[in-house]
Amino acid sequence: MTNSALNAGRRGAELAELRQGAQLDLLVIGGGITGAGVALDAASRGLSVALIERRDLAHGTSRWSSKLVHGGLRYVAQGHLGIAYESACERGHLLDCIAPHLVHPFSMLLPFGASTSNFDAGRMWLGTEIVNALRFCAGTPPSTLPRPHTVSATQALALVPTLNPDGLRGGVVYSDARVEDDARLVLAVARTAASLGARILTNVAAESISGESAQLRDGQTGERFALHARHVVNATGVWATTLSPDLMLRPSKGTHLVLRSSSLGDPQAAMTVGVRGEKHRFVFALPQPDGTTYVGLTDDPLTGPLPEVPSATEEEIAFLLDAISGPLRTPLRREDVIGTFAGLRPLLEQSGAQRTQDLSRRHAVVRGPDGVLNLVGGKLTTYRKMAQDLVDLITATPCETTRIPLVGAGSPAELRAIDAPPRLVRRYGTEAAKLMELARTDAALLRPLHPELPVLGVELLFGITHEGALSLDDLLDRRLRLGLIPRDRALLEPLARQLLELHALVH
Ligand SMILES: Cc1cc2nc3c(=O)[nH]c(=O)nc-3n(C[C@H](O)[C@H](O)[C@H](O)COP(=O)(O)OP(=O)(O)OC[C@H]3O[C@@H](n4cnc5c(N)ncnc54)[C@H](O)[C@@H]3O)c2cc1C
Repeated sequence: MTNSALNAGRRGAELAELRQGAQLDLLVIGGGITGAGVALDAASRGLSVALIERRDLAHGTSRWSSKLVHGGLRYVAQGHLGIAYESACERGHLLDCIAPHLVHPFSMLLPFGASTSNFDAGRMWLGTEIVNALRFCAGTPPSTLPRPHTVSATQALALVPTLNPDGLRGGVVYSDARVEDDARLVLAVARTAASLGARILTNVAAESISGESAQLRDGQTGERFALHARHVVNATGVWATTLSPDLMLRPSKGTHLVLRSSSLGDPQAAMTVGVRGEKHRFVFALPQPDGTTYVGLTDDPLTGPLPEVPSATEEEIAFLLDAISGPLRTPLRREDVIGTFAGLRPLLEQSGAQRTQDLSRRHAVVRGPDGVLNLVGGKLTTYRKMAQDLVDLITATPCETTRIPLVGAGSPAELRAIDAPPRLVRRYGTEAAKLMELARTDAALLRPLHPELPVLGVELLFGITHEGALSLDDLLDRRLRLGLIPRDRALLEPLARQLLELHALVH
């Protein structure tokens, strides 16, 4: 096993090796969860792999997810039991072995309010029972994800204090899982691939590809060059059609709001509510460990050109505020919104589906006429299975990724034993110990960089020395996720720049 640290020095050396003719079995284009998953799977089966990403790891859709690693209540409601079962199995692998440091169980309340008919309440209860049965079939014990149970109105109010008590009849609570930070999951998968010998090269774009080669451009120097490989994988998500124009994708936009959890009375559980007048359409409020709550999610076809970083419209913000306010005592206001984010789902075109909400979240490997292996559709939760399905096509060596822990993975007992601030253990797992070592000679690195923000100086340094950040944007937006709340980002940017200049680390 080689080192998992990614940094500018390693990038330069590995790029030079490739340009001097190092042999490649697999060239993966795209550094989202899909590409990172393929790089890890292929490297773990002994293939020589390079992954190139035009900007930064998790620059695309993978950092704009709802952060759910889910067993699929929504898929059950739509009758897609196969996808729900696959998701439940993948969730089990992530919780159990692959990323127990980043993926955690949480409770979701489905409230039964004045407008919930007995029929709808019964349907919701049945849905959670089916999700629970899939959990059982997937082999995840109830000690990890407890069985669903009904709650009284008083108990529902204790979980979400801002619910409207008038007509509240209680609800049902079920268990699912969420990831601490989707960009950190991508990073952990990519670094684990690097530890098995994969070359992970950011800021390198593919300008064109064929089944056995790609024309690339180094974003640092502007140089163009070609690379050859036995197989080329297009894992560029919603941008896949720019490299493989024959693919049929239907991008759909999903928007979230960021609120202070205090606006919802500091809920102790997440909450899902049905959208009035719509079938199988839900919105949810998902509390985060940092005192914010995400409210999502829209699902509308994207019209017009693909934006590099999509943004929320006022109409989407108004829709989400209205839908989530349905069961609340006092409706949420525009001023409660402290940030927004939006992403584009790379959905596969399917005949018969009118609305993007009805398109299945299944994935597919589509071999292009030129031999390119396109890996499209799917979701964050099932990235490992997506990668397995693709790599199975090119090698007979069995897949072992259900048993490969990501960098930082550790059991709850191991994590509890680490002598480091809780924030570091939560976000870096067992690697929190490495951050403590990095800060050994300068205790100031363990202090928050700003009195209103929890970010520690050492997180910035680690981002550069171990996590492949090449710029301040990489650090603030993908390693620390400060861009989710523009005010927080603005507060920290000058201090982050100063600290990095002091350590002569930023360009
Ligand atoms: C709003 C929203 C919420 C979601 N919530 C969930 C959820 O809660 N749980 C879940 O399981 N799934 C969720 N999903 C689905 C999941 O996020 C996506 O399926 C997944 O992130 C797609 O990953 P990807 O790697 O295929 O694409 P991306 O993450 O977009 O990665 C593609 C990468 O390719 C790079 N690239 C593009 N062109 C080139 C080029 N020419 N050369 C080099 N690199 C290139 C891009 O920069 C990008 O980094 C959600 C999706 C959306 C949109």
